[in-house]
Amino acid sequence: MERDIYDEDHEAFRDLVKAFVKRYVTNEAIQRWDAEGEIDRDTMRAAAEAGLLGLSVPEEFGGAGMLGDYRFRAVVNEEIIGAGAGSLAGAFGIQDDLAVPYFVHMGTQEQKAKWLPRMATAEVIGALAMTEPGAGSDLRGIKTSAKKVEGGYLVNGAKTFISSGKTADVVVTFVKTGEGNRPDAFSIVLIEDGMEGFQHGNKLNKIGFHGHDTAELSFNDVFVPEENLLGGEEGRGFIQLMMNLPLERLSIGVAAAAAAQAGLAWTLDHTKNREAFGERIIDFQNTRFRIADVATTVDATWAYVDAALRAYANGKLSAEEAAKVKFWTTEREWEVLDTCLQLHGGYGYMVEYPIARAWADARVHRIYGGTNEIMRDIVSRPIAGKR
Ligand SMILES: Cc1cc2nc3c(=O)[nH]c(=O)nc-3n(C[C@H](O)[C@H](O)[C@H](O)COP(=O)(O)OP(=O)(O)OC[C@H]3O[C@@H](n4cnc5c(N)ncnc54)[C@H](O)[C@@H]3O)c2cc1C
Repeated sequence: MERDIYDEDHEAFRDLVKAFVKRYVTNEAIQRWDAEGEIDRDTMRAAAEAGLLGLSVPEEFGGAGMLGDYRFRAVVNEEIIGAGAGSLAGAFGIQDDLAVPYFVHMGTQEQKAKWLPRMATAEVIGALAMTEPGAGSDLRGIKTSAKKVEGGYLVNGAKTFISSGKTADVVVTFVKTGEGNRPDAFSIVLIEDGMEGFQHGNKLNKIGFHGHDTAELSFNDVFVPEENLLGGEEGRGFIQLMMNLPLERLSIGVAAAAAAQAGLAWTLDHTKNREAFGERIIDFQNTRFRIADVATTVDATWAYVDAALRAYANGKLSAEEAAKVKFWTTEREWEVLDTCLQLHGGYGYMVEYPIARAWADARVHRIYGGTNEIMRDIVSRPIAGKR
């Protein structure tokens, strides 16, 4: 089904992204990122210079000022994921969708001026640290504390599973500044690489997204000056997290749709070019029927995601609506990619095939950004009249 979400500006931007992909997103680069477990800084800088990264940084701070129109980011995701580079798309997403928006929407003028211009050029890479070894879904159970001391806070604790955690220069960190677990007991502080007592742990060994670093972080009496309290106000951490949830969930929905679309394209290519029993794989009725399912699911997924993109652009995508999008699209993505992998036969299980990497990458979409069980909880509570 033809999509009508993009206008001329988005399509012109797509040409730019395609040129970047042609030059930088080569098989050799994908293999190097996977082997090194991270995206090199030169690629991030080149992406920023080409105008693909820093899209959400306002123009006055050197970015493209497109935070309200996620369609440009959607184009980046489609092209990069379509080229089989899920890890690169992931690294871009953490910077533009997870880290930058906290500064743009919630930072003080000083925090914006200090960080955003360098985030626009990828001189500074950001990460968002909420999850801890003992608390993921239940964020009110976090233990990392920021105790008020003269001129700032002393931070102690540990975070885990932090995307871009190894390479980040600044970590938007969810901490406890008060007693108990009321929403106002939490704040967000900006913890900088090089602060004494702050350590990036080793890269975690994952089943997918091999080219994007995920790490543990530890904080041992880290002194964080009070100017690094996000927004300059204590006790607003929970509200600040909530503010970015629609975007975070929408971004996962877009990545899921893009991966499903890419899976279909790779599968058409493979099944048209391989033969068994004297016929092309695509000529078997089973293959055609499965492809019919996949193609229809891809269309339906985009139709839903496009509606969400429009709602977001109009400032109308609620956290609940975004939760629906997140769990529904990532489950369709999983069905699609698993079917596509099957149609590749043994080749689908080989990591040099993009379908294999996309399948492994897709698995985490149902886990991070809030698990799909938590998404269903969020969606069902108001329906059930439960608080
Ligand atoms: C590759 C990767 C990257 C990540 N990147 C980041 C990042 O950048 N920043 C960050 O802060 N975190 C990140 N995470 C963490 C991720 O958000 C958490 O793993 C996720 O929120 C789940 O938390 P948990 O792992 O503690 O699981 P748990 O909360 O222990 O959940 C275990 C199971 O119980 C279920 N469950 C829990 N509570 C309920 C409930 N109320 N009702 C029904 N079922 C429930 C869950 O759905 C899940 O199936 C990342 C994780 C991975 C794997």
